[in-house]
Amino acid sequence: MDAESATITEDRQVAAKPRRNKRSALVRELRLFAAHWLALSLVAVASLSAGVGGAWWFLTSTGRIAHHASGPDPLRAAPGAFAWSQLPVAEFPIPPYAKFLRDIVIVIDPGHVGQKDRGANFKRSKNGLREAEVNLRVSRYLREFLEAAGAKAILTRDEDRELGLEDSEDFRARAEVATNARASLFISVHHNAADAETANYTTVFYHNGADTSPASQAAGRYVLNGLNDALRLENHIACALLSDLVQYPGPHKPGFAVLRLSRVPAVLIESSFYTNEIEERRLRDPLYNRREAYGVFLGLARWAQAGLPSVELNDPADGRVRAGQTVMIGLDDGLSRRGGWGADLNRIREDSIVVKFEGARLAHEFDAAKRQLAVTIPRNAAVGQAELLIDFVTIFGQPVQKPMIPLIVTDGTANPTARSRQPSNTPRKPATPAKPKPRTQN
Ligand SMILES: [Zn+2]
Repeated sequence: MDAESATITEDRQVAAKPRRNKRSALVRELRLFAAHWLALSLVAVASLSAGVGGAWWFLTSTGRIAHHASGPDPLRAAPGAFAWSQLPVAEFPIPPYAKFLRDIVIVIDPGHVGQKDRGANFKRSKNGLREAEVNLRVSRYLREFLEAAGAKAILTRDEDRELGLEDSEDFRARAEVATNARASLFISVHHNAADAETANYTTVFYHNGADTSPASQAAGRYVLNGLNDALRLENHIACALLSDLVQYPGPHKPGFAVLRLSRVPAVLIESSFYTNEIEERRLRDPLYNRREAYGVFLGLARWAQAGLPSVELNDPADGRVRAGQTVMIGLDDGLSRRGGWGADLNRIREDSIVVKFEGARLAHEFDAAKRQLAVTIPRNAAVGQAELLIDFVTIFGQPVQKPMIPLIVTDGTANPTARSRQPSNTPRKPATPAKPKPRTQN
């Protein structure tokens, strides 16, 4: 029974009864009046809140008002009315496309953590902020974001204490973590220093020349974009994706040791400058460190979404080949195995396919339907270990992660080791000069 019909029923009952006394009738009237108004107010409050809530939902879900509006009206303000360097509200949602990071192994290297400390000025700001402590905070936050997305994130150093290693050993140990983990990426986290206190910008380094590791550069591009969005720095240099040769040109041990020693795609980030006083204050703030890690994380999520292409020797699968033999290599664009719309279409740019045997270009035949490559080993190929490089670019511009396929070129006999083990009753042959041995059979 609703409030109104209840009132009507009571009214009728009141009319039917003889008047006993005026006072009780008045009390009843007042009670009815109160009940009426209470019911009406409840209905009003309920509809008002439903209306306001609905309108709020509509406006926010259609993007008409910002959740955290401050400053000019985003709908009416002229482009440029907002200050780029004013950081937005800190929020770190895991985007749905970060699902493509699932099971990808990423090794994070907090620069200088555990390294021998060389006194008061070693990687410190003039106010005493240590680069290592900032690098470690950012690295830990990055691990947290990556793990939340289902990636396998490994830190080369997780504790801020000296390990007493010589530098060369220290760098080797860091790079080895990535090699042993068969990581898809090694990312060394650093912050920069300069004599000029005004300097403050982001750089991302890859190792050596433009052809050394396209996969490293691809990852570096995404990470740089993520950092740009997260840190909102005012200064940007002409080319922020840099070869490490600009820092250490060689010829002896060129580039950064951790990148040079890495056997997997690798980048080194110098996110910002701790020698810049304003930036140094920001770097002391864990929330700013978390913003930085989130920027790198978003970059990596987009990198993973673009797919990580790979190559595989299909025939012969054991990698033992003869000179003149045609081998078959499967090309994986890193996307088609996800299935879905267009998975049956070729997403490898045929003109981008490069095949090199021991550094020299080789002809190839590409079967776009099967995503398979036929390559003939040169007739003059020397017996022993050899490297076959297969690289290409997908529709996302992603190159092959690990383009090198190790081969063993044999002389065509089944097994040279077994051949030398002859039965003892066989007549001894006269000694002949030993054949040159293959470098190794393993
Ligand atoms: Zn550093």
